[in-house]
Amino acid sequence: MVGYADRATLEDLVGGAAALVCLLTERIDEALFARAPALRIVANVAVGVDNIDLAAAARRGILVANTPDVLTEATADLAFALLLAAARRLGEAERLVRAGAWTGFSPTQLLGVDVWQKRLGLVGFGRIGRAIARRARGFDMTVLVHTPRPLADGEADRLGVTALPLAELCATSDFVVLACPLTPATRGMIGAAELALMAETAILVNTARGAVVDEDALVRALAAGRPGGAGLDVFSAEPAIHPGLLASPRVVLAPHIGSATLGARGRMSALAASAVAEVLAGRTPANLVAAAPQGAPTARGAPAP
Ligand code: NAP
Repeated sequence: MVGYADRATLEDLVGGAAALVCLLTERIDEALFARAPALRIVANVAVGVDNIDLAAAARRGILVANTPDVLTEATADLAFALLLAAARRLGEAERLVRAGAWTGFSPTQLLGVDVWQKRLGLVGFGRIGRAIARRARGFDMTVLVHTPRPLADGEADRLGVTALPLAELCATSDFVVLACPLTPATRGMIGAAELALMAETAILVNTARGAVVDEDALVRALAAGRPGGAGLDVFSAEPAIHPGLLASPRVVLAPHIGSATLGARGRMSALAASAVAEVLAGRTPANLVAAAPQGAPTARGAPAP
């Protein structure tokens, strides 16, 4: 077992490794695999696997594992925290207080938007999307969902959600929350056209991956006043953040902390380690990632083909 700190060290160390435990900040690609002839398993301590070239791994017979389920509730909590913070302008409020600029209660100061009984639009209705929907029930919200495949028969009624095309969801939601993976199909999926459909009071929340949103378009849209705000945990060029987002007072920014609870991070580490132990013992872990057709990654915990 060896640790590593950067790409150069990783490239040096991976030569004799049978297993690699990595973070979403590492690019795990063909060039790395070429230096790792003994590699059998890559265990990503994340549920998203957009940092891994799944097709290259499959070609070389290298298994890929992720950490589904164990971070679902923590990430849904953070999505809802950002939704509430953006709705109630908590970032601006805290900055005002800390700057010593609060002069006392005012009936018109920092007016936000209601969350109770509003419409929540979920883009992606997998583990985290469903966990966000469960929280929305406590706020008596109407839940709209956009999914790439139709929901199973009766599922929408059973879960109390309405499935909509993306444009309609953007146009009718008070809160658009992204809970899909980053794939070739979702990269830039929320762009100028989708943002222009959102209401002036609407809020975009992204706890998925930064590149699902066209950040240039988001900065322009916020400046134009629609949507009215955003809560963002993820960014396309992390840790760099688009200067227009940093400058926008109605954006609540978090440094990719969706799964950052003691419990979730502990469970993620244990799950990644157990996948490695299973593979090295000749067994098949339950949390393997399948390489989807056309190389689009999925993170369903299904065995690799
Ligand atoms: P999941 O259970 O696989 O759910 C993802 C859902 O997105 C699936 O239902 C999938 O549908 C759907 N989807 C795929 N392509 C879509 C599209 N074009 N439009 C709308 N929906 C689409 O994954 P999860 O565990 O909920 O995690 C979702 C993502 O959240 C991860 O991939 C990761 O990037 C991100 N995440 C971020 C943090 C953080 O720290 N901010 C923490 C955890 C996860 P199908 O099943 O039909 O493909």
